[in-house]
This record gives sequence, structure tokens and C-alpha cells, in this order.
Amino acid sequence: MGGSELIGKEEEQALVEIIERGGILLRYGFDEKRRNVFKVAEFEKKFAEYIGTKYALAVSSGSAAVRVALAALGIGPGDEVITQGFTFVATVEAILESGATPVIAEVDKSLNLDPEDFRAKITSRTKAVIPVHMLGAPARMDEITEIAREHGLPVLEDSCQACGSSYKGKKTGTLGAIGCYSFDYVKTITTGEGGMVVTDDEDLYLRASYYHDHGHEHRTDVPRGKDSKGMIGFNYRMNELQGALGIVQLGRLDYVLSQQRKNKKQIKDGISSRKDIEFRYLPDEEGDGGDTLIFFLENSEKAQELEKILTEKGIGTKILPSAMDWHYAGRWHHMKGKIKPDGEPLEKTGELLNRAIAIPISVYMTQKEIQKIIDAIAK
Ligand SMILES: *Cc1c(COP(=O)(O)O)cnc(C)c1O
Repeated sequence: MGGSELIGKEEEQALVEIIERGGILLRYGFDEKRRNVFKVAEFEKKFAEYIGTKYALAVSSGSAAVRVALAALGIGPGDEVITQGFTFVATVEAILESGATPVIAEVDKSLNLDPEDFRAKITSRTKAVIPVHMLGAPARMDEITEIAREHGLPVLEDSCQACGSSYKGKKTGTLGAIGCYSFDYVKTITTGEGGMVVTDDEDLYLRASYYHDHGHEHRTDVPRGKDSKGMIGFNYRMNELQGALGIVQLGRLDYVLSQQRKNKKQIKDGISSRKDIEFRYLPDEEGDGGDTLIFFLENSEKAQELEKILTEKGIGTKILPSAMDWHYAGRWHHMKGKIKPDGEPLEKTGELLNRAIAIPISVYMTQKEIQKIIDAIAK
């Protein structure tokens, strides 16, 4: 559950402070009234420093972050954007909202984008690729960025589930042209609802900034009402309450990650002697955020059997079968006619997910809880 487990006095104080210092909740304008309180701007600055990019733009959600990043890249009707068949539905919705066509590729045993299927799905219409770092673990970014480079495609990383994770020493979200994060209530850190777009590219940053605020260029020499318009936009702004929470939660991120990694390792070590389970392939195990422990069983019957045992013991699992509806493209019949491939199942992705067990890892887990999970799996 991440940062939501830690919400406490500091978050309360940050919210109270905003009200006490004038209660300006909009991130822009009101310069004379706001007594130098710019929480969203401060959150952006600190986030960019933490993540290691030149620019960060806070937005209203992770879904908004992907939508805004696509707008920054100039993606629109007639374009195709490749992403993976195992992701939260929001990735694909954002592509649809941009007017482009989502093209869904298979995942491999990393449960993230299969580089070879990505390559196979590139057409003359492909304009971008969105690898998603699912459940805290980075995708095979070396292969993905290399294939994208060969084809001149920008990489938009959906790091909504992997805030603070890294790949070969760089944070996920900073390996492509532009990266996205979510701070919804169940993500690594939370602002209730919220998101972030990061990039090193000034043009992309400016376009994202215009697009997320009705096209505003945010000139400092004129009042907001007289601002010039950089493009047609929409409203995906973050507000000051979210910004204040974000600053506090960002300060908790390393703690969240270290706790999750520690708890995950203990459970993994506790079951690793079993020969009948195969752990999810991690392209960079050290960079994994520790959010979830995933392993494959021999077939879906065995996975369902184990899930039943775990559920009986009160241990929640994240994929089988309940969470798949919103995370596996093979179940999105409501998108029929809008995504490619249309109607054909994603065989490899479905096969892998159907025999995967995902154990959610928390920041706070007692030794007793950890042992209970190990024992239940052993049984
Ligand atoms: C949560 C999530 C999103 C959307 O984030 P929200 O803040 O909930 O809108 C996008 N992509 C992935 C992979 C996610 O897990």
C-alpha cells in the first residue's frame, strides 16, 4: 500500500499550513495574496531533484500524466502508440483520449513489454512506445530503448507503479523522452489523487505545461488573465493541497522503498527453495521497488489452487483472478473496435498472468505476518 500507510501528523500539518497561510489552493496566480506559498512548484522542484531530471510537471493524476505526455509528444488521430497487454487500463485510455490507436504488445516473463513483440508491432503509423514498469519492477529498458532508437520512436515510460524504482542506476521514468508517475491512494507515495510528468527536454516540458493548463504559457510579466496561449489545452492541474502532501510523501519515499524491499526479500528467501515456482524475471533486481512479489506456477489450475489457500488464510493476491479485469487487455471487451489487435487474445500475456501469483508487500509487516505468508505458500 506504500505511502498511504504512513499518512500522519506531517501530512496534517502541511495541509493546515496552507489554510493558515492564506488558503490559496490554485497553483498559479494570486501572487500578492499567497505569501510566497507555492506548494506544487516546490513539490515539482524536489521531485525533479530526487528523480534526476531537469523538469517535472505536477498534474491531477497518473492518467492525466500519460495524457499530457502524449500531448507533449504531439500524438494525435491517425497515430499508433504501442504499449503492453498487462497494464492498468489507464495507459490505454490515455492513448484513446489523445485520439491515437493503442496497439497492444505481449509481455514476457518480466511481466513488462516484450521487446521482440514491440518490434514486431511497429508500423509506419507508430509514433511512440509506452513501456509500463508494472508493480514496481522495471521493464527491459536496454532492449526497448534500442529498438525505439532504431525506429526513431520516442519512449514514454509509464512509471505510475514504480515511483523511485530504478534500472541500472537510473530512476524509472527517466530512461526515455518523457516519464509519468501516479500518486493515487494505492501507489508508492500518494497525494490522494495526483501525478507527475518528467523530462530533460525543454520543448516537451513546455508543451506539457501548456497542455495541462488550457494552453497557458505561464508568462511572468503579465497577469494570468492576460497570458498568451501556446496551444489548445485542457485542465490537468495539480492543486496546492496535493502539492503540500506530495512534499511530505516524497520525503517518505526512500523509507517506503527500503521497507518494501526488506519485507519482499524475506518472503522471497523463505520460499525460494521450492522447485515448483518460478519467480518473475527482474531485469534489475536491485532497482525493483519491492511493491509486489510475483511468481509463476506450472499452470493456471495450480495457481488457482494456491490462490484459494492464500485467500482462505486472509492473504490477498493482486492478480488472480480479481485484479486481471482492469489490468489485462484480453478482458477489455468494452474497447472492442478501438484497440489493436482487435479481438485476438494476447496469448502469451494471458498464459503468463493466468499462472502468476502476486503477493502484495506492505511498508509495515510484522514477522508474524511475513511467516504466515511463507507458511501458506509452503503448504
Ligand atoms: C495507477 C496507474 C495509472 C493511472 O494513475 P491514476 O493516478 O490512478 O490516474 C496509469 N498507469 C498505471 C500503470 C497505473 O498503475
